[in-house]
Amino acid sequence: MIYRLLFAVVTLVALVITVNAQDYHSYANPAAVRVRHVDLDWNVLFDQKTLKGSATLTVERISQTEPLILDTRDLKIDRVETSVDGMHYVAGTFKLGDNDKILGAPLTIPLPAKATRVRIFYSSSPGASGLQWLDPAQTAGKKDPFLFTQSEAIHARSWIPLQDSPGVRITYAAHVRTPPNLLAVMSAENLSGPARNGDYRFRMQQAIPSYLIALAVGDLQFKSLGPRTGVYAEPSTLALAARELSDTEKMVTATERVYGPYRWGRYDILVLPPSFPYGGMENPRLTFATPTMLAGDKSLVSLIAHELAHSWSGNLVTNATWRDFWLNEGFTTYLERRILEAVYGRPRAEMEATLGLRDLKEEIAGLDDRDEILHIDLKGRDPDDGSTDIPYEKGALFLRHLEETFGRARFDQFLKGYFNHFAFQSITTDQFVAYLKQNLLDKDPTLAAKVPVDEWINHPGLPASAPKPSSPAFARVEEQAHLWLGSKIRPEQIPSAKWTTQEWLHFLQTVQTVLGSPTAVPESSEAAAQSMSALDRAFHFTRSGNSEIAFQWLLMSIRNRYEPAYPRLEEFLLTIGRRKFIKPLYEELAKTPAGKARALSIYRRARPTYHPIAVASIDEVLKWSAGN
Ligand SMILES: [Zn+2]
Repeated sequence: MIYRLLFAVVTLVALVITVNAQDYHSYANPAAVRVRHVDLDWNVLFDQKTLKGSATLTVERISQTEPLILDTRDLKIDRVETSVDGMHYVAGTFKLGDNDKILGAPLTIPLPAKATRVRIFYSSSPGASGLQWLDPAQTAGKKDPFLFTQSEAIHARSWIPLQDSPGVRITYAAHVRTPPNLLAVMSAENLSGPARNGDYRFRMQQAIPSYLIALAVGDLQFKSLGPRTGVYAEPSTLALAARELSDTEKMVTATERVYGPYRWGRYDILVLPPSFPYGGMENPRLTFATPTMLAGDKSLVSLIAHELAHSWSGNLVTNATWRDFWLNEGFTTYLERRILEAVYGRPRAEMEATLGLRDLKEEIAGLDDRDEILHIDLKGRDPDDGSTDIPYEKGALFLRHLEETFGRARFDQFLKGYFNHFAFQSITTDQFVAYLKQNLLDKDPTLAAKVPVDEWINHPGLPASAPKPSSPAFARVEEQAHLWLGSKIRPEQIPSAKWTTQEWLHFLQTVQTVLGSPTAVPESSEAAAQSMSALDRAFHFTRSGNSEIAFQWLLMSIRNRYEPAYPRLEEFLLTIGRRKFIKPLYEELAKTPAGKARALSIYRRARPTYHPIAVASIDEVLKWSAGN
């Protein structure tokens, strides 16, 4: 009886956890059969743009009767085997279900009695959404092809059949065969040593969610940055990358000082070719990063602070479903600014926070209410739709509000305890809120009353009491912008010699706000283009090698019809695939018929060089169809 009662309680608890953490973006049934480990074995076939090999899953069977259900997208499944002891395998059966546009197809594998191993022989498709196969022309070296993966949010299933939910954590091992002159790297410990021979072995012994499994193959070289940090890049990029990233070890130490030990062994950074669709991806032990962050003056390394911060928020404590994405990104954006403050000082961190708030407010102006909610409902939608500034900047502001209310010392201690308490777990928003209540709010009800937690998490917009980061340096920049716009000074008289990238960005945004305002001087678009021309003569923005400044300038050039910048715009769109840059530029072009025609003409050439994730976004912006 007592056992039966216990069983009922356990079942009920399991049910509650399952219901709370229901992942609408996975077919998997981890409450019945849960994958714990995967052994991967691949040949990297560049000529066929295919990974071909096997995945051997070790499963835990909570139900003895239910089949294993996995997520797949565009995988070709050849055959399946099962094993009771992991030594002897027998042929098994499988059923690949119908393909859903967002989720892919479920792979159902019946399990014989006591079977705990399942081996799947398969290959990926050349168009796999999580893989990008680059021709030599798309690399810096121009000699060898390149492959990299990008699995977040639900793209791991396009190259590995598994339970592709952030709520399911697994360990992994991999054996990868490549052309002998290329190097393979993964988000794991490299067991092969430094030899370059086309045969590589890896192991990740800490349980991670599937979206953090990562692989890259190319003509890569390594340079050490510190005792446990280093950088991989193509040979021609390596020296620049190592100089730019020389503060990495310092950043790791600064983060540990506040939030507890770095638990992943090494922290290396892989600088990818420019078609990488994101700024960075926090693959454990090996951040993947865009080369557009290499500005030459460390002004864009907030990106590394961000990816490093994910080693705590995201990789160590993970969102259980994509509804809870803000637990990854809001915490990480908050930590990113804290790392910047520790390494480069408070003014720099406040500039970044101010720019972040500006972007957030701009984005909120164009979003549906439902998409302004931290605990967003993404049922029936692509989880990549939730990747706006809301989880990042609104999430970070919420944590900043807690910090300002309870004091930094107390809040730091709370966060350190949070990372420790949920280390190597995937948690929901509800679990965070319960922990917050118990470990911070309930201990000081007077202060807790000042934080509208429910409004922050479940309502659109920003609470009236939201923090307002501000930067005195930015106020001075605005003053100069207005003096120039009011014809009080010439551009050459602006005291900009020591301005940082962030100050330049704020200057340009301030100018655009005035030029874009219908009541402002100058009124006509011709006058706006003349203002652009004056700025360009003084500061050479069209030729800027800083990707953030170039992007901001090109966006303004489209808005103000500043045609001398159009050749650079075209070059930018044809060489860079980072979605944060190219999507707004195409959107801006698409606002006028002439711009739309220009956009289509550029996109026709650029599209084959973009990553599938970027292609999906730009197709939507330009209503692209095969006939274009
Ligand atoms: Zn992030």
